[in-house]
Amino acid sequence: MTTRTVLVINSGSSSIKYQLVDPDSGQSLASGLVERIGEETGTIIHRHAGEKTQLDEPVPDHGYGLSEVLRLFDEKGPTLSEANIVAVGHRVVQGGRYFSGPALVDEDVIAKISELVPLGPLHNPAHLKGIEVGLELLSDVPHVAVFDTAFFQDLPEEAARYALKREVADKYSIRRYGAHGTSHQYVSGEVSRMLGRDDLKQIVLHLGNGASASAVVAGHAVDTSMGLTPLEGLVMGGRTGDIDPAAVFHLGRVAGMSVDEIDYLFNRESGMKGLAGDNDMREVWKRIDAGEQDARDAMDIYLHRLVKYVGAYTAVMGGLDALTFTAGIGENDDRLRAELVERLGFMGMRIDADKNSVRSGDGRIVSTPDSAIAVLVYPTNEELAIARQAMTLI
Ligand code: ADP
Repeated sequence: MTTRTVLVINSGSSSIKYQLVDPDSGQSLASGLVERIGEETGTIIHRHAGEKTQLDEPVPDHGYGLSEVLRLFDEKGPTLSEANIVAVGHRVVQGGRYFSGPALVDEDVIAKISELVPLGPLHNPAHLKGIEVGLELLSDVPHVAVFDTAFFQDLPEEAARYALKREVADKYSIRRYGAHGTSHQYVSGEVSRMLGRDDLKQIVLHLGNGASASAVVAGHAVDTSMGLTPLEGLVMGGRTGDIDPAAVFHLGRVAGMSVDEIDYLFNRESGMKGLAGDNDMREVWKRIDAGEQDARDAMDIYLHRLVKYVGAYTAVMGGLDALTFTAGIGENDDRLRAELVERLGFMGMRIDADKNSVRSGDGRIVSTPDSAIAVLVYPTNEELAIARQAMTLI
């Protein structure tokens, strides 16, 4: 193997996801997952050339997990010398106001990611662990941090700033940072390439368990639905999305709930899970088909929120050329796509039922030729996007 590869690492608090990517061809050469780090039993799964290897063993910490992964590379392939890793790309959720693009990891970058922990309390500490053990175990290649917030760093001030007392907002760094930026940037870029136009007004709907919308004009994000944290915006698997912040005061004063309890309620127990009883859209459809009214209501709330965002972003951009669906729900749920586009029919948007129902891993147009707005499905590939961003720095 003479190709160059990038090892992409997404380090979570108790997990490490990885993928070995050829940034030139876009191919994934190996991938895997370390789960339940620090628990009594852990799992390591490594996939290469159609073969899956699974180890069930305690993984006391991230360092041990990654060293086992590297051992599996040498045992199951591709060996590290075959792999020719030229960079390690680390996914980092919160880059605050510091990072508008990828950054070569050095002491200063590590210090800034640490400084941003209060803005990314669930993610940044875990990313720092991944970076630390990565630097230790793969010390002879450059490490690059790729930030989920970077694409939204240059949002217009009117979109990024909340109407919160300026001194307080600035002192506590409260503004809209967005999230899923790597995905929105990648997908909007691919759509632009596919349609052969770099001046597009686009909306990307990243609908996974977490969900976000972005408005992109000529390759630049002008608005996005996630805010200070990934809680704001669309209805999600377990998150409320937009909700009157006074609900927090009310639950505190009337229900006597603590801030942590409300945080958990809004981030974990709400959204489709809280409305329909399940965060997985496939299950929600099953419940709808079984006649459960709560599930149908949940879907209507989900769609209503999407309609509002598409309408608002079209107004913000002064028009819309392309609407693109991506991530787990966006890529797979043709029924949801059809219902949403039908609700947006007043904009002249028309879906082609046959094209929409085709299952495919390729980016594709699913609107009719006479649709006033192109509707697309484009699979996101955050690992490839991270690998390509990492390559721009080495
Ligand atoms: P995340 O990366 O945010 O965890 P994904 O983008 O992988 O999430 O999306 C996961 C979600 O995709 C699942 O929770 C499920 O709701 C949805 N999903 C996956 N496959 C389908 C499908 N065939 N139909 C509808 N929804 C699906």
